Amino acid sequence: MRWKGRRQSSNIDDRRGRGGTPRLRLPTGRRARTGGGLGLTGILVVLVIAWVTGINPLTLLSGLEGGGSHDSPSYDTSTRQTPANDEGAQFVSVILADTEATWGEILAQHNADYPEPTLVLFSGSVPSACGYASAATGPFYCGADRKVYIDLSFYKQLAGQLNAPGDFARAYVLAHEVGHHIQNLLGILPEYQKARRTMSERDGNALSVRVELQADCFAGIWAHFAARQKGFVEEGDIEEALNAASRIGDDTLQKQAQGYVVPDSFNHGTSAQRVRWFKQGFRTGDIRSCDTFNAKNL
Ligand SMILES: [Zn+2]
Repeated sequence: MRWKGRRQSSNIDDRRGRGGTPRLRLPTGRRARTGGGLGLTGILVVLVIAWVTGINPLTLLSGLEGGGSHDSPSYDTSTRQTPANDEGAQFVSVILADTEATWGEILAQHNADYPEPTLVLFSGSVPSACGYASAATGPFYCGADRKVYIDLSFYKQLAGQLNAPGDFARAYVLAHEVGHHIQNLLGILPEYQKARRTMSERDGNALSVRVELQADCFAGIWAHFAARQKGFVEEGDIEEALNAASRIGDDTLQKQAQGYVVPDSFNHGTSAQRVRWFKQGFRTGDIRSCDTFNAKNL
């Protein structure tokens, strides 16, 4: 990937080396909006975007002028103490920014606003609205606080132990977590969590597989649009993502860990399934093609 120099996200909460105490994110309230309307320049910009992208400009305007129904976390730059300026943080920040652009546009096409998730970088362990998480958990998304948590040391594990090297493999992992955020916004994640409470472990795992494969499909959708941007995705990148999807399939991980496979305990899907659904999203770029819940064959 040629990611250096691209736009970085401002939705990064860098808590590394803090023992789980957030210091950067001060409660600054809502992100400053344009206040009383967009002004002529804003409207012209929207019209130009609409013309270029073929999006109904009214959709864009209603998204922008919604008055901020959600609180977007933001930094108070004057007190920001440890800027995330190392290469690992810069990389995830660029990928996150690109997912914001992609999903912002897709949801706008479906007449919806895109409340962006926050990416929390941590080391060791971190408190979340979903409980305490440690590096051993791997990257995860918490629906209750709409945040993605990642200990960047996972990427070393991904490249080493899991044998899935490459920057696009790392991007896929993040895009998968953002996929869970999309599921949360669509109401899929809350439904799943509710349903799972009354299910047997076996049925719960089977449903979890569908949730996870859909997140893979959504990651594929991001890759679909990333690949259309000139000079961003390079030869071999998609293969890196497919390799990663294959390396973190339940069957492969179980075989690696214990030498045999227990299909009932799968909760992410097999390697072949993860590759298939990533490819599906990558091929279509269409959210409607990611209905893993009604798919007869996963
Ligand atoms: Zn997942």
